[in-house]
Amino acid sequence: MAFSLDTVIYMDNNATTRIAPEVLDAMMPYLSDYYGNPSSMHTFGGQVGEAVTQARQSVADLLGADPGEIVFTSCGTESDSTAIFSALRTYPEKNHVVTTRVEHPAVKNLCDNLETLTGRKYHISRLPVAEDGTLDIERYKECLTDETAIVSVMWANNETGVLFPVEEMAKIAKERGILFHTDAVQAVGKIPINLKDSTIDMLSLSGHKLHAPKGIGVLYVRKGTPFVPFLNGGHQEKGRRGGTENVASIIGLGKACELAAAMMDEENTRVRALRDKLEKGLLSSVPKAILNGHPEKRLPNTANISFEYVEGEAILLMMNQHNICASSGSACTSGSLEPSHVLRAMGVPFTAAHGSIRFSLSVYNTEEEVDFILEKMPPIIARLRELSPFWEED
Ligand SMILES: *Cc1c(COP(=O)(O)O)cnc(C)c1O
Repeated sequence: MAFSLDTVIYMDNNATTRIAPEVLDAMMPYLSDYYGNPSSMHTFGGQVGEAVTQARQSVADLLGADPGEIVFTSCGTESDSTAIFSALRTYPEKNHVVTTRVEHPAVKNLCDNLETLTGRKYHISRLPVAEDGTLDIERYKECLTDETAIVSVMWANNETGVLFPVEEMAKIAKERGILFHTDAVQAVGKIPINLKDSTIDMLSLSGHKLHAPKGIGVLYVRKGTPFVPFLNGGHQEKGRRGGTENVASIIGLGKACELAAAMMDEENTRVRALRDKLEKGLLSSVPKAILNGHPEKRLPNTANISFEYVEGEAILLMMNQHNICASSGSACTSGSLEPSHVLRAMGVPFTAAHGSIRFSLSVYNTEEEVDFILEKMPPIIARLRELSPFWEED
């Protein structure tokens, strides 16, 4: 899958991905000739409606879901908000939400703000994580109460790639009659998902994390799950989300889901091998480099590595001079000097949390790119440590 964007080495795929050329090709007719409204009675609009129906099927197939369980939204963030507000409105008498300390801001900040957004007091339980970023299931069980309206736990962490046992957690919630939502934005397309075999009630995904455009998302809502719309309006999405469909992006997402299904093996073999080579290479060639996150219970594409006694921002700037794109901690927290809430929740020491770099690969990465990074990184870190007042060689 080599391609030439010439000089850029893009290893920031958990922040966003390139639109696959096949996806763009599938979308173009719906940005030009086929501009009808899928809800219209005439054939011109109706054929657009048929294309949307096909895309819905492709999304459902990737998830092991029924097309009727797929609700198109504007992004992963909207899907997360829709799921959580739906549960709170379904159970107005319940005032408790269970989540984790390491959620993406789309869930974290929503939960932090629930009080001001709703005018009533919610009690939020934020599950802690171990040093390797994993969750304690016993702790989770103890958290659930009769007041719990919803559990919202991410499937894969965007910063470390660590996977949570959401299927097992959903089962436990089900036994207690509690709704279970998972933010699977980082998991979809990278690991196999079969919702038919699970009791997950709602699941969020986002197009731009799997080679579809930005501005398209999905909320999976299991058949029979009580649901209150977030956006009220027309009868689109069977009354579950008002607003004329983002047709071209929906078509693109459908195509991206087909591609993801076809490339799932490659993601878990070739991409995983590239990630492992990069990770092992960095950990062995750079002194005081530490892997953040469980070594196995992880996405195949993500490596989060701390280089002690240097600043992530400084590392990124020097990588940028070689056109290497990665992130420090999370794209959403860079710009602030606070280390990421995820690494803090894992108890990563300050000296290491500040120098953390996330490499996130895709099927478009090559071994040459990994070799190039392995050549450039050790001198970059050595150079920055020479300038660091805290670094002492031992
Ligand atoms: C990117 C991301 C989101 C937000 O998706 P948008 O489509 O950008 O709103 C939510 N959760 C996780 C885990 C993400 O990585």
